[in-house]
Amino acid sequence: MVLMGSRCLSAFCQRVSKMYQASLVLPEGSKVADIKCKSHRLMLDAGLIRQASPGTFHLLPLTLRALEKLIKVIDTEMRKVGGQKIAMPGMTPSSLWKTSGRYSEYGPELLTLRDRHDVEYCLGPTHEEAVTDIIAGEKMLSHRQLPIKLYQITNKFRDEMRPRYGLLRGREFLMKDLYTFDCSMEKAEETYRSVCEAYKEIFSILNLPIVQAVGATGAIGGSSSHEFHLLSDIGEDQVYHCSRCGYAVNQETVEGVPSCPDHLSQPECPMGLRQGIEVGHAFLLGTKYSKTFKADFFDEECKSRLAEMGCYGLGVTRILAAAIEVLSSDKEIRWPRLLAPYQVCIISPKEGGKESSAIHLAEWLYQDVCLHAPHLASDMLLDDRGHMTIGRRVKDASQIGYPLIVVVGKRALEADPKFEVINTATGSTEYLSKVELLQQMESIAVL
Ligand SMILES: [Zn+2]
Repeated sequence: MVLMGSRCLSAFCQRVSKMYQASLVLPEGSKVADIKCKSHRLMLDAGLIRQASPGTFHLLPLTLRALEKLIKVIDTEMRKVGGQKIAMPGMTPSSLWKTSGRYSEYGPELLTLRDRHDVEYCLGPTHEEAVTDIIAGEKMLSHRQLPIKLYQITNKFRDEMRPRYGLLRGREFLMKDLYTFDCSMEKAEETYRSVCEAYKEIFSILNLPIVQAVGATGAIGGSSSHEFHLLSDIGEDQVYHCSRCGYAVNQETVEGVPSCPDHLSQPECPMGLRQGIEVGHAFLLGTKYSKTFKADFFDEECKSRLAEMGCYGLGVTRILAAAIEVLSSDKEIRWPRLLAPYQVCIISPKEGGKESSAIHLAEWLYQDVCLHAPHLASDMLLDDRGHMTIGRRVKDASQIGYPLIVVVGKRALEADPKFEVINTATGSTEYLSKVELLQQMESIAVL
């Protein structure tokens, strides 16, 4: 038994042999080849998700780890813009949706249910009504208490006619929605700019090439909006995008090909029509909802005024799937590095093989990394499925996309032991001594 301090290594070592991954189970009558969407196919194939019903999915352990990391990034950036996290019920009384007029606007996409008292509820796709109702309940709200910025990361519902593309267009999905209440339009615009910057920061941390496009206001309503897209052929939005200055606009909002605002300084701005996956949006709502629900406050002169609102969404599960969509090859998943479910996967030798006497070395290496790079302790996996060949397990690890794969093979038994280190992001392989390997481990950043 290998001991680390007083703790038994096996007690905290994360082992692939103990990890639950669903075997590929497709709905009856469908084949992997039928799945056109890469992220959907790869996630099913690697056992990361399992379909529960059309458009709803079980998120399995590896996916949830990646999702929790993404939530960490989002929480940090929301806090920086003054966001306070709350959780509103998934059930919103339909009466609130009828008051705002969105009950009929949404139509059959709105999932509803009735309780035993025959009261109808909507399973909210967004929560403008619910959150405005909270603030409207504050009868003595002062301008000194504003701005109020409330956000949540909860499951949302949309009864899609044709749910498709896995986590990209489901009927139940995880969304971050922020609602802001400011005392003037000027302040609301300031908030709007700061949240758009926060969104850009989130995608920059994830190293994802985000495109911020002038958007349509659509069913949410309001005066101005931006959409955040990851460009991909599977995307369902058409976006004019300038590859030189980055200016972008949703096709729905313009007639003909638009030109960039700095078109005069760069006369040859190449504006191309691309498909985008919308992963975020920002709306300046003005008083559309605060007027309906009487969400007001007292200004400096003790006069009642309506709050100026904004709402800001991020499709959390959709970001994860869209990132896989744009970063992966046809066969292997690649994550934004910080979101990979585990940063390192150590592969032990095959049992009964020539190098089976090196099996203990894999456990020792795991322990050494925990001591020298303790920040990696919970981000490291040991593929101890010794009944499988090393090659098969390297293939698995590469398919799931752990950024670093460390193979403890026969060269680990040499007088000058070396470990095979595969960097899945660059595709490079090198042989490192334990000292060199531990140095590299120390430099790996984790969330
Ligand atoms: Zn341009």
